[in-house]
Amino acid sequence: MAKYKHIVVPKDGKRITIKNKKLNIPNNPIIPVIEGDGIGRDIMEATRRVVDAAVKKAYKGKKRIVWMDVYAGEQANELYKEWLPQETVDAIKKYVVALKGPLTTPIGGGFRSLNVSLRQLMNLYACVRPVSYFRGVGSPVVHPEKLDVVIFRENTEDVYAGIEWKKGSKDVKKVINWLNKNMKTSIRTDSGIGVKPISVTGTKQLVRKAIQHAIDNKLGSVTLVHKGNIMKYTEGAFRDWGYELAKKEFRRKIVTEDELWSKYKGKMPKGKVLIKDRIADSMFQQVLLRPDEYDVLATPNLNGDYLSDACAAQVGGLGMAPGANIGDYIGLFEATHGTAPKYAGKDMINPGSLILSACMMLDYMKWDKAAVMIRKSLQKTIDKKTVTYDLERQMKGAKKVGTSQYATNIIKNMR
Ligand code: NAP
Repeated sequence: MAKYKHIVVPKDGKRITIKNKKLNIPNNPIIPVIEGDGIGRDIMEATRRVVDAAVKKAYKGKKRIVWMDVYAGEQANELYKEWLPQETVDAIKKYVVALKGPLTTPIGGGFRSLNVSLRQLMNLYACVRPVSYFRGVGSPVVHPEKLDVVIFRENTEDVYAGIEWKKGSKDVKKVINWLNKNMKTSIRTDSGIGVKPISVTGTKQLVRKAIQHAIDNKLGSVTLVHKGNIMKYTEGAFRDWGYELAKKEFRRKIVTEDELWSKYKGKMPKGKVLIKDRIADSMFQQVLLRPDEYDVLATPNLNGDYLSDACAAQVGGLGMAPGANIGDYIGLFEATHGTAPKYAGKDMINPGSLILSACMMLDYMKWDKAAVMIRKSLQKTIDKKTVTYDLERQMKGAKKVGTSQYATNIIKNMR
């Protein structure tokens, strides 16, 4: 067993392993947990309680998650004097499935995003964000229930690759001079520069996962969301490579939007997935105006980031927005929102996003009985109108409760 400096491996759990290209889940899997900064402690405590209660109830005590604390962010800096210790990355790789709270990222300087580093270091290339509506939650749109999408956001490249140079630095001068001289560009010398790589590899591994998800879950369409009219060789290529992969690897299971009209007179053949594409700005309109025409959205990194927050707002805000970072096997599950520092330690914030992320984790482990139980109970708790501040302010006649009471209510409402 690996020797860690600060991570204590629980003795009463077993490791998830990979056998024949599938996860092999014991009844007592060890799951690494990064508590997170800011509101991390509030929501992680609530989430662990809800998950433990559901697993116990669903499997009558035969299954149990054995949580193992691993460290990143402020906690890691206190313990190790570094923000992302190598042993945290090693432990997540070794134990395969992990749960994570939000981590602070300084803006405009300081260290690189730990969240982005975690995703890149473990090649967690798909950021998966399902967005659907829970009955009764206040929403700024008239028919929030019509939006039911899963966003597959590329997670390792695009302008998030972290290749940038500060205005005025020696390096940026070199880059600008080289480009202006050799590529005949006319970049202003007082510019900062960022690079936007989008590769065939990154695109195809993402789109493959998105289409497979649509097939596995019998969903009607996958839409490639891009800004290819402007950024032709990055976002435009994302679209082209996406179609290329769909036709090559899923030929008998998909129909492209062009083929729908040229071969099928606009009538979708049964049991196939429609592959279409939309320009990103138009997509923001489409999710508002025609949300029920979309099932899975596959996007480059930046588009997916914007789009998932916008979609979350349509169904009641960031308190209800789960997510997962998934590679070939490793799954790191986390809420879409950040550390919301003004609410840290106040027992106020909505733990719903992290609880729903944990449900995705249970689905991933095929412990879906527990996940279904939690989602139903969350709906029941909302029906009873005892909710956290963010939902209370959007719901008529609701009673406000704190994070821990909300979790206790979810547990009480489990059937
Ligand atoms: P944020 O932490 O997501 O919070 C922005 C606002 O969203 C909050 O003030 C709150 O709005 C609402 N919100 C967030 N979480 C909520 C929840 N659980 N329940 C209800 N409402 C919630 O975004 P930020 O303030 O821009 O970012 C803070 C830090 O988090 C930054 O350092 C950022 O880099 C980091 N971040 C980390 C991750 C990650 O770890 N994956 C993701 C995003 C951001 P109201 O005040 O209106 O209620």
